Amino acid sequence: MTVAADAVAANLAVVRGRIADAGGDPGAITLVAVTKAFDRAAVDAALAAGVVDLGENYAQELRAKAEAPAATTVPAPRWHFIGRLQRNKVRTVAHLVACWQSVDRVEVGAEIAARAPGARVLVQVNASGEPAKGGIPPEEAGSLVTALRDLGLDVAGLMAIGPAGPPEAARPGFARLRRLADDLGLPERSMGMTADLEVAVAEGATMVRVGSALFGPRDPRTGGAGM
Ligand SMILES: *Cc1c(COP(=O)(O)O)cnc(C)c1O
Repeated sequence: MTVAADAVAANLAVVRGRIADAGGDPGAITLVAVTKAFDRAAVDAALAAGVVDLGENYAQELRAKAEAPAATTVPAPRWHFIGRLQRNKVRTVAHLVACWQSVDRVEVGAEIAARAPGARVLVQVNASGEPAKGGIPPEEAGSLVTALRDLGLDVAGLMAIGPAGPPEAARPGFARLRRLADDLGLPERSMGMTADLEVAVAEGATMVRVGSALFGPRDPRTGGAGM
């Protein structure tokens, strides 16, 4: 799907306003623009609007967009991998990814450490307790953080995906993620998407991952899965 650059710039202003209205500092909270299911034009539009942190869920899609010819006027993006991580896909994007947000197994961490020594990672925590969601149970996060550090990785923080349902349903899990990050001495808390970013900001997100509020709804056949 493609998207108009001026629409993205206008949507970005709205998202920054939502962050501010929720009590967050839009200059201090990292906005990761999730370009999944959109084409390279969306990437260029986000970059032109001033967002350099971009998120993708699938290795092949990230690679295609990262390696597509870029508009010459835009800065280089910082790619965040935010989808379910398959060990055999790590190699294909290791040279492109600046932050691995969805690490929930030491095996995947070992592959990242082998392909991109010292890489920046977040540990994905299943803070809502929904069985179908990715992420390690909160009580196991500390030992995974230690194991990843032992592999030489730069563990910057924790990441969580809110549950389906009304935004308020995400609050207990986000509050838990914040406490857990504090207990572990980790500065980054990546939580909040289009639907629940206000709740996430109020509960102390340092990073939000926003797709549809910036680029519009995704085609359900090609996007929206992969959480
Ligand atoms: C798709 C996705 C997002 C963005 O979702 P929107 O609802 O479009 O903002 C954020 N985080 C993850 C992990 C995703 O898979």
